[in-house]
Amino acid sequence: MNRVLALAALLLAGPAASAATPAKLKVFVSVDMEGVAGVVSPDQLGPSGFEYARFREFMTKEALAAVTAAKEGGATEIVVADAHGNGQNLLIEQFPPDVRIVRSWPRPLGMMGGIDASFDAALFVGYHSSTDNPQGVRAHTFSSARLHSVKLNGQVASEGSFNAAVAGHFGVPVVFVSGDDAAVAEVRAQLGDVEAVETKRHLGFHAAETLTPAAACARIAEGVKRALARRAGFKPFRIPTPVALDVTFKNYRPAEVAAYLRAIQRVDSHTIRFVGQDMLEVSAFQVFLTNYSLELEP
Ligand SMILES: [Zn+2]
Repeated sequence: MNRVLALAALLLAGPAASAATPAKLKVFVSVDMEGVAGVVSPDQLGPSGFEYARFREFMTKEALAAVTAAKEGGATEIVVADAHGNGQNLLIEQFPPDVRIVRSWPRPLGMMGGIDASFDAALFVGYHSSTDNPQGVRAHTFSSARLHSVKLNGQVASEGSFNAAVAGHFGVPVVFVSGDDAAVAEVRAQLGDVEAVETKRHLGFHAAETLTPAAACARIAEGVKRALARRAGFKPFRIPTPVALDVTFKNYRPAEVAAYLRAIQRVDSHTIRFVGQDMLEVSAFQVFLTNYSLELEP
């Protein structure tokens, strides 16, 4: 190329080529608590537990480790969804002022509340294995007390794969997950080679050999940086439509009563099937199912 052409090419490339304009990188972070380092029982997981105040601090620190690393990795905008228990666990005053936080329920898209097609990557922090998994600390899917099994298109769904499919509906790839070894193994089996950090090794439903909070935060920061550095290699997790959601309740009556609706099929004594045209409809049904009660006031 001669000099004139080279100059013309430079001029035509315009401001987009300038290093002063960082490329947009919008990151969504969904934060659960069962997979946070040190969490092993209800004593850490809710306001009535004697260790909850300390452990919501540790949960916040793990989320912050992901947020800080994402910013260092080029994130230009970050939304964090508090996706555990009452949805009001994260200590919001500890986050940088340019981060927005999604809190409380019920809300559209549940644990993924706040995501849309404008995001470029999703991160899962503090995740746990599914109710269908015999392994993992506090293994459950959406409700440890009420649900016995959850499947999407006949395949076992964890919260990780279900939420990844919600992100996938919007064309957003999940690039990182942290949680115990069972959660990480399950999510990677479902989604493929996402970056992952094991915060602890499960020894039982209520027991684990765990990293310290500081060690877990350091590994999460490293993992998120690795994930964003290779994010071009990730694809959104899209599942074929229409989407069949099978839910098996621990009790008999929710299946019986839900099956009064023509949109619901009774698969067996404890199982119903809802077929949605896409993950949005399935997610809306899941949010309805896990929130509706006639006793709700106001
Ligand atoms: Zn949780």
